[in-house]
Amino acid sequence: MAESRGMKEQFWDPVAGFGVTFRTMFRKVVTEQYPFEKLPTAPRFHGRHQLNRWPDGLEKCIGCELCAWACPADAIYVEGDENRDGPDGERFSPGERYGRVYQINYLRCILCGLCIEACPTRALTMTNEYELADNNRADLIYEKSDLLAPLLPGMEQPPHPMRLGDDDGAYYRNAYSAPAPAGPEGTTP
Ligand code: SF4
Ligand code: SF4
Repeated sequence: MAESRGMKEQFWDPVAGFGVTFRTMFRKVVTEQYPFEKLPTAPRFHGRHQLNRWPDGLEKCIGCELCAWACPADAIYVEGDENRDGPDGERFSPGERYGRVYQINYLRCILCGLCIEACPTRALTMTNEYELADNNRADLIYEKSDLLAPLLPGMEQPPHPMRLGDDDGAYYRNAYSAPAPAGPEGTTP
């Protein structure tokens, strides 16, 4: 009796096993052909960071270091400096200070997002960019220039004074819009 059950198992187990293989052969293939095909991530995927700008091009980062303090992996390094108005001064952000040095070490970062939660000005956010591999350690320490958002139309490369628009409130509500370029002499475009 035990011998016949053993024979049955010896015969049916491989058949059942190959049955799984056979069924799977006709299922839709889910393999992604990365890096030849890059599929979009989920909209809220936490990828590479970005340092954002105000609509006149000034930087939102005020060099407060709260992001660095919030980081559990000690991946952020910030050095703040003072904005100075006047003929010899330079202004990079609204307010007193800006982030003169800003680095994120992607050898340490675990993309947890705690830093963007800590940022009081929404200067720091995360993009969907996930291609963060490299073949040497130095290139994985991103500098401020690697992280700053690009200048959009109407933005001006800092340093420059705050282009307030109607008033401070309009500026901080992102209601500032760059003045239209002047038309030919004596005309209003
Ligand atoms: S995502 Fe997390 S680990 Fe990476 S820099 Fe921000 S707080 Fe640090
Ligand atoms: S990114 Fe935000 S939290 Fe970090 S230093 Fe700049 S303003 Fe402060």
